[in-house]
Amino acid sequence: VDSTESGEDGGGQGLSWSRVNSMSIKEWDIPYEELQFEDRIGDGRFGSVYKGNWHGDVAIKMLTVDSQQTDQTSQLQAFKREIAMLRKTRHENLVLFMGACMNPMHLAIVTSLCKHQTLFTHIHLRKEKFAMNRIIIIASQIAQGMGYLHAKGIVHKDLKSKNIFIENGKVVITDFGLFNVTKLCHGNRKGEWLSIPPGWLCYLAPEVIRSLQAFNHMDLPFSKASDVYAFGTVWYELLCGEWPFHGHPSESIIWQVGRGMKQSLGALQASKDVKDVLMSCWAYSVDERPNYSRLLKTFERLPRKRLARCPSHPIQLSRSAES
Ligand code: ATP
Repeated sequence: VDSTESGEDGGGQGLSWSRVNSMSIKEWDIPYEELQFEDRIGDGRFGSVYKGNWHGDVAIKMLTVDSQQTDQTSQLQAFKREIAMLRKTRHENLVLFMGACMNPMHLAIVTSLCKHQTLFTHIHLRKEKFAMNRIIIIASQIAQGMGYLHAKGIVHKDLKSKNIFIENGKVVITDFGLFNVTKLCHGNRKGEWLSIPPGWLCYLAPEVIRSLQAFNHMDLPFSKASDVYAFGTVWYELLCGEWPFHGHPSESIIWQVGRGMKQSLGALQASKDVKDVLMSCWAYSVDERPNYSRLLKTFERLPRKRLARCPSHPIQLSRSAES
């Protein structure tokens, strides 16, 4: 419970911490029976996401609980703690957290429904190119949402273009702070070994990559700085239209990033300032990575092109990516 919210959560009001905690959790507990499920939107590593209805359109992320888990009670407590953090988030660039089903048989997270496409779809599936002005706007909005999360003490742990929607030209970040929840889940993992979904490794900072283990990738050293590293990768995707180390096998990425090597920027035609953002976010040393306020200041200083009105100007291309 956030001690700054003493009025709401009781700090110093004579209520015990656990009672206050269970009161605030109740506020966010959505009875499973109240959820109406519609189409399945897609599957992730740890469960499936459905379009649904709960006082209007919502997205319901059902977690596939691992029945083999030995310590389910404490894991459930951890789930509740993470959910308690999410209720503190109110920012226009973050998906709206509406509540969760805490029934151990039906663990689910309910958020507002994003109706448009992810940045991943725009960049990697539709192969859309963004004009530099648009790239700066998108990156600034991501930095604003992420800066807010960090100010609230929440580390995203899974920032990637698949978790960034572009809704009517506005960035909406999803899936924040939930990585530990996945300890509960077996989800779509096959067996107990480390499974690496395509395009995941390039978001992992060297200190995280170096901590990957074959049988346990849950206790990874995610931090605000590792979120900034992941942001660098999103910046690269926006600029280049592909992931860094594109086409390299996982072992090679793990080896290179773990030793502090970075994607070469030789082929990237961009100003030094634009490339410096990449190099600073991807700094090997955690302390050398900028925070989001510094990144935002950098973006404000980047020169914006005047928008020409000729049909072949890239602004025409960027429009298709604004849905
Ligand atoms: P991973 O599990 O590796 O992170 P993922 O991001 O695709 O992969 P999920 O986060 O489980 O997995 O998402 C599954 C699908 O649901 C994706 O297509 C995702 O874009 C979609 N989705 C997630 N949250 C929402 C939302 N709030 N509104 C609409 N669609 C969503």
